[in-house]
Amino acid sequence: MPALDAPLAEVDATVADLIRKEAQRQHDVLRLIPSENYAYPAVMEACGSVLNNKYSEGYAGKRYYEGQANIDAVEELAIGRLKSLFGVDHANVQPYSGSPANLAVYLAFCAAGDPVMGLSLAAGGHLTHGHGVSISGKYFDSVQYGVRESDHRIDFDAAAKLAREKRPKIIFCGTTAYPRVIDFARFAEIAAEVGAVLVADISHISGLVAGGVHPSPVGHAEVITSTTHKTFRGPRGGMILCDAKHAKAIDRAVFPGLQGGPHNGTTAGIAIAAKLAATSDFKAYAQAIVDNAKVLAEALLSRGVDLVTGGTDNHLILCDLRSKDVPGKVAAQALDRAGIVCNYNSVPFDTRKPFDPSGIRLGTPAMTARGMGADEMKRLGTWMADVIENTGDDALLARIAGEVKEMCSHFPAPGC
Ligand SMILES: *Cc1c(COP(=O)(O)O)cnc(C)c1O
Repeated sequence: MPALDAPLAEVDATVADLIRKEAQRQHDVLRLIPSENYAYPAVMEACGSVLNNKYSEGYAGKRYYEGQANIDAVEELAIGRLKSLFGVDHANVQPYSGSPANLAVYLAFCAAGDPVMGLSLAAGGHLTHGHGVSISGKYFDSVQYGVRESDHRIDFDAAAKLAREKRPKIIFCGTTAYPRVIDFARFAEIAAEVGAVLVADISHISGLVAGGVHPSPVGHAEVITSTTHKTFRGPRGGMILCDAKHAKAIDRAVFPGLQGGPHNGTTAGIAIAAKLAATSDFKAYAQAIVDNAKVLAEALLSRGVDLVTGGTDNHLILCDLRSKDVPGKVAAQALDRAGIVCNYNSVPFDTRKPFDPSGIRLGTPAMTARGMGADEMKRLGTWMADVIENTGDDALLARIAGEVKEMCSHFPAPGC
């Protein structure tokens, strides 16, 4: 046996090999899952650092353990940078991820059984916005709004009506599978009318908001939650931004309400990502994400692939494959074999079941992080349409996988 403190390759060749293979996979394929990205190498360094070793329950200056000089400085750096990046009064960077960040918001504003409202999963919302299988739907009296059948855009009239009937304590807006701009001002009107706290969950789009290519919820939503690892390119983590009047309630809900010690390596990673998000390079990255999505959308439309809402304003595309007569799962599995990795997804008013739905969901953040642009998106659109129209053609899938790998070799994947 190697010594306990030996490097990974000596201690556990099996895990080391799996990590190496995963790095290779992330390099050799086109990653289109819109919630995924390549975290900055600098962030990965911070996450794997000695910050992991420190316990620091509490907040800067009010910890329950000694030895916090460096940890306090790291956390205050992350908070200060987020406050200036987004223009908010307060930031909490301790949520372990996006779901715990949302749960902390429920804890801050609601008692068990209180009425809450969010966008349904089927219409592009997140499980934590009140879905029945989630604690958010089990422990709270949840009602859900959706999208209009006519154009698959958020149905504000129905949401307003539901809010008047239900008088929810909090209203979640924000999405995981919605290709259009979110009208935060319209949600704020609805929340104000019924006295609800508006919570904007910008997990998918926080990088687009920071980069100035999606309108900000600041000034409309009193509370903003987000993951830090999607378009933001930081570590796996969560954050809550809010108005000064909610700062205490949010901090208490995260700790001691929901969590113990914060993950300090993650906190450092958030500080780094927030620093990078303020640069002109990041603004260009955010713009390129959106530009690439539009080019890919056009390429797919030109091959007769239907897109929910007919296109995209953001980083995400939702394909409705019913007119191609291919189930989403069949398409996603064939695409994976061709080196194009996406996920199957329900489309609004889907006639198929969630585990075997009619659509696939695509996103451009990871490909854009590799420096790919319009030419690559056009090639990808052609490959995807070829696969969708020939899901059983193994020779074709293998040929495209080779071409994808060749193209990827010209665009180094960060950290791989
Ligand atoms: C990804 C996501 C979450 C959950 O984040 P996890 O880190 O997976 O817990 C919550 N809300 C929205 C809108 C998301 O897209």
